[in-house]
Amino acid sequence: MDILVTTHTEFGFVNDKHIIPDKNATDGVYKGVPNLIKIADKYGAKVTFAVMPEVTAYFPKNIDHEVGLHIHSGWEEFHRGNFSFYVGDSFLRENTNQSSTSTVLKDYSYNEQLEMIKTGKDHIYETFGTEPTSFVAGRWSINNDTVKALIKADFKCDCSAPAHSKPCHHDWSKLPRICMPYHPSADDYQRRGDLRLLEIPVSQIFPLGNVNPESVPVYGLSWFKACFLEYYNQNAPLFHICLHSPCMVDPYFTSAMDDFLKFISKHDNINFKFASEITEYKDFVPKTTILPYLFRVNNNILKTGLKTVRSKVFGGRK
Ligand SMILES: [Zn+2]
Repeated sequence: MDILVTTHTEFGFVNDKHIIPDKNATDGVYKGVPNLIKIADKYGAKVTFAVMPEVTAYFPKNIDHEVGLHIHSGWEEFHRGNFSFYVGDSFLRENTNQSSTSTVLKDYSYNEQLEMIKTGKDHIYETFGTEPTSFVAGRWSINNDTVKALIKADFKCDCSAPAHSKPCHHDWSKLPRICMPYHPSADDYQRRGDLRLLEIPVSQIFPLGNVNPESVPVYGLSWFKACFLEYYNQNAPLFHICLHSPCMVDPYFTSAMDDFLKFISKHDNINFKFASEITEYKDFVPKTTILPYLFRVNNNILKTGLKTVRSKVFGGRK
């Protein structure tokens, strides 16, 4: 089984087990990246860092891991609890023409998206001397024009797909929960086609949600181990973990990541890969298996489940 770890590399800090992507919190990159590398190297894991152009000065040079590109378009203020922060990329804001402030990449024309992607790619190349070929869109938001622009800019793969998910700012609802890499169609990035780019969806827990250590406070680590086993036991060819670099500054999350990689690496036939090394796998038909989850019910998942049931039962009544 191939294991892929993609990391959205950006500024931020952790407060109360949530990432606040504050632009002043440069440690999210400066410390988060080396911390993750240290953990990954313990288990021979490879990490693909999708790097925002604005953070390159804080990213280590000459690492043995992959450097890709992470694009956040626009510039808007967001709030979480008492914190407010800006989403966007200050480097791209200064060096590209963006006709709006929208933080959703698919809101921009093909030409605008291509300019952001090319400018970001050139900046990564000038800083690190390697051309990024792996991509992740900020807020998971792409459309057919993004795929076209990525191919034009010579990208090999896109890791922006939380399969099955559709809030307002992105749409991956046509992908099944367990979805292996595929070449998209020019008319619909969610359908199989023959384009050169490879879509590599992020693995999803049951019933829905990214395999991401940042969600351990919600579901408990054992739920993610169960998800790994659900994939592993049916010989799924790929398990794809995602995370954001700022969580690797917090001991709660570094210990969760360490524990998770230790668990995975103990299994037979595990091959850690970079995103650019992944190819399409043939003949795998996924199925949902509940059994590994039943053995790994934990306090966090019980609390989360109870909250969901309560909101479903009492949600409409105030
Ligand atoms: Zn991001």
